[in-house]
Amino acid sequence: MRRLYPYIKPYIGYICLTLLIKCLGAMAELWIPYLMEFILSRGAEAGNVSRVFLYGGMMILCAVATLTLNVVANRMSAKSSGRITKAIRHDLFQKLMNLSSRQMDDLTVSSAESRLTSDTYNINQMLARIQRMGIRAPILLVGGIFMMLTMDAGLALIPIALLPLIGIIVYFVTKFSLPMYTKQQSVLDKVVRTVQENITGVRVVRALSKTEHEKARFHEVNSNLTAVDQKAGSITAITNPSSNLVLNMGLTLVVLLGAIRVRGGQTDATVIVAFVQYFIMILNAMMGVTRIFVMWSKGEASARRVADVLDMPEDMAVLPWEEAEEHAPHIEFRDVSFSYTGRGDNISNLSFRLEHGQTLGILGSTGSGKSTILNLLMRLYDVDSGKILIDGVDIRAIPSETLRKKFGVVFQNDFVTEGTIGQNIQFFRDISVEGQRKATRDAQASGFIAEKEAGLDSVVAVRGNNLSGGQKQRLLIARALAGEPEILVLDDASSALDYQTDANLRHALREGYRHTTTVLVAQRVSSLRHADLILVLDDGKVIGTGNHGQLMETCSEYRHIAQTQMGDGKEAV
Ligand code: ATP
Ligand code: MG
Repeated sequence: MRRLYPYIKPYIGYICLTLLIKCLGAMAELWIPYLMEFILSRGAEAGNVSRVFLYGGMMILCAVATLTLNVVANRMSAKSSGRITKAIRHDLFQKLMNLSSRQMDDLTVSSAESRLTSDTYNINQMLARIQRMGIRAPILLVGGIFMMLTMDAGLALIPIALLPLIGIIVYFVTKFSLPMYTKQQSVLDKVVRTVQENITGVRVVRALSKTEHEKARFHEVNSNLTAVDQKAGSITAITNPSSNLVLNMGLTLVVLLGAIRVRGGQTDATVIVAFVQYFIMILNAMMGVTRIFVMWSKGEASARRVADVLDMPEDMAVLPWEEAEEHAPHIEFRDVSFSYTGRGDNISNLSFRLEHGQTLGILGSTGSGKSTILNLLMRLYDVDSGKILIDGVDIRAIPSETLRKKFGVVFQNDFVTEGTIGQNIQFFRDISVEGQRKATRDAQASGFIAEKEAGLDSVVAVRGNNLSGGQKQRLLIARALAGEPEILVLDDASSALDYQTDANLRHALREGYRHTTTVLVAQRVSSLRHADLILVLDDGKVIGTGNHGQLMETCSEYRHIAQTQMGDGKEAV
């Protein structure tokens, strides 16, 4: 909760004002039964009409003041808690964006999403409710009892005696519900994850007729959430009825003892009427207090989940700048090993050098570590041992902004965003229309874009659903080329292109991007055969290295793949 303080601090003055207004509202409310008792005993009984009107007018005044002040304060509380939550959400989003890939793997995307949405919502509710009830309820409670004491101290002992009982109920509810709410949020994470997987993979799920299976899976997480919800709900469900019971018992006692006292002449019947009013007021205040505690438990659990992310240490710190090594190639991997999980290397002892303007091709079966090499090169993950250097500088010593700017990249299964084709190519960078056109020409995308009525301004649907796989890939390649990167990274980026388009693309890259160092991952030997250096990977290890000609001689696996795909392997594409 302490983690929230910096966010609340700028609004402390505003919140204090809200609470002051609430306080005034509650005080006005407290006078209503008192005035009513006055009217009954001194106005009505004595037949004094002008007094009835005077006190009646004061009662109306108090009621109007209560209403107005409450409305004003509630609006103010919504405003401040809304703004505080907005600031928290902003920072949380920023932090999530800056988490390293490894931290994100640990956190999971769905958990990040629910922390950003439902957890911050809980915090918002907590802040608002505390402001609305936090001061009003105690004032009504204490003030109500005080008023009762001034009217009939003897009878007022009844509600006072009941207070510890209610305190105990609230204590137990809070104690048991806090862990329950933490659990509830983590189950919610799972629900979000399942839904997310299903929605992203809806076509696959349908194609493989796994709909029933997925339904069952969703049913399971859904039931889980319901169970936790019910448990959390059943605990809090005890509070209201039990505090009701306690107070109703108190009410009965007041009426009973009151009747006896009235008969004995120790008190007036009008006092009993006011007492009942105060009792109801106290009852409502108690309910308010328990609701605050419930909201507090929920908010606290959520605040912790948010704070856990905000307090994540900065991973992948930038090392002090070092002097570049002399005669260094553009990219060098020096004995690099890496594992995602710490169990078994996903890349072992990888070394290679690539000069400016050269092309590296990476070939290997699925799961052999091709994308991993790219992840390491772009420093999405840090190597476990060895070094990766760009122009002779360890990439860990290059500020991340500078490093990222060097790359133009198409990830495997990359995504296009909703917007226009032009916006997708620009991708929030400042790229001229001419630059966009050049990029689309080189990426072999100008053909299909020209066919569209609005050209670069044509609309791309969410996830690029109105584009074919090959069109999407070409658009992504155009996006990567448009930044005129120093290093172009294409992970299986032309797999959906036909042979001819793929060949045209490679030709355009060779001719137009002579100074761009390129790293290509491909399944087709034809896409890689012109590369200056080709790595053949198997299970994270290099089993062949050299250019096409050399590999045909030395690497049987490469020869085998080439012959299966291209006949004798000499066919020019
Ligand atoms: P493909 O041709 O299918 O794209 P790839 O050669 O690109 O395969 P990688 O994505 O580099 O394969 O994965 C190499 C290995 O690392 C695989 O065994 C994979 O299961 C594992 N792996 C990849 N990403 C992660 C991750 N984020 N966490 C844990 N393991 C991972
Ligand atoms: Mg891959």
